[in-house]
Amino acid sequence: MFELLKTDPSSNARLGRLTTAHGVVDTPVFMSVGTQGSVKAIDPRELRELGTQIILGNTYHLNIRPGLEIIRAAGGLHRFINWPLPILTDSGGFQVFSLATIRKIQPHGVQFRSHLDGSLLFLGPKEAMEIQRILGSDIAMVFDDCPPHTSTPREFRAAVDRTMRWAAECREQPRAEGQMVFGIVQGGVNKELREECAKALIALKFDGYAIGGVSVGEPEPEMMRAVELTEPFLPADRPRYAMGLGTPAQMVELVARGVDMFDCVLPTRVARNGTAFTRKGSISIKAGAWKSDFGPIDTTCDCFACKNFTRAYLRHLLNVGEILGLRMLSVHNTRMFVKVMEEIRAAIANGTFAEFRKEFVANYVPTQKVLLARAAAAER
Ligand SMILES: [Zn+2]
Repeated sequence: MFELLKTDPSSNARLGRLTTAHGVVDTPVFMSVGTQGSVKAIDPRELRELGTQIILGNTYHLNIRPGLEIIRAAGGLHRFINWPLPILTDSGGFQVFSLATIRKIQPHGVQFRSHLDGSLLFLGPKEAMEIQRILGSDIAMVFDDCPPHTSTPREFRAAVDRTMRWAAECREQPRAEGQMVFGIVQGGVNKELREECAKALIALKFDGYAIGGVSVGEPEPEMMRAVELTEPFLPADRPRYAMGLGTPAQMVELVARGVDMFDCVLPTRVARNGTAFTRKGSISIKAGAWKSDFGPIDTTCDCFACKNFTRAYLRHLLNVGEILGLRMLSVHNTRMFVKVMEEIRAAIANGTFAEFRKEFVANYVPTQKVLLARAAAAER
């Protein structure tokens, strides 16, 4: 199911190919997030044009709305949303622990109140796998305990214990035909906990392994450390997935640390605030600096927005609240993330990843202020 095609001599970067029930995914890959059954503001035809190979759906949200019976009647999630390519579903663990009001953590799951209407619900390994089976995703995730990064050592310990126990329960549940199941390693930035959790999951022989407990509000060095503490224990012949990460520069650095799969809401979420990703970092398209800038968002980008519209026009659309503006920024940002992955794969294949990494990270300035200053100096 996963073929490791090439490894980079200068780092832990890997080139791979993951074969799923709905097609092949080239790794490293960026997966667009379609939490509610839609990658916000982008239709499936556009997603395919952007080079999207796989999208995410979410157990917690889809189970609440529209509800499982509707999706079952539609013939599964692929048919319901008309997306023929691979889908990965998150188990809902992250949402239960971050969105919902927890009533009680029980041995076989969590009783919680819906963030929407306060109704009392229960989700555990059995329920999460059953929902994902009916959704019919190509990759299902185990139900884990994802504590905030500010948790005490005792809380991290308890979360790892639950995660290991629940992973074993998930492993025993029936799956959809051809469905893969990934384990999730927790343990914060505690070396022993990460090792223990990884080893316990690997003994259960999952189809892939995720590094969880990142993207929970921790500072970047802590996030990198969580990955570095986990990666050495993960088997080379299975894909590794860093959940909920990151910016383009962070993804390049995480690929260098041996990660194959990424998902992040950033491209579409910040698009709705008027922020665009460029090779040099993120910029606010609403800024006055672009008022009469008739160049594209990014000169190196091949997306529909960059080929057809100027910064000045997109800025205008955003400032007057036209939907097209945020649609085009969503298209552009998604293409940027997908394209960075295409370039990473090409660089690993050509043996030039070390140079690519150095140049990309050096050029990428993640703050608007610095970037505006650079753009003013470099482009005018
Ligand atoms: Zn573009």
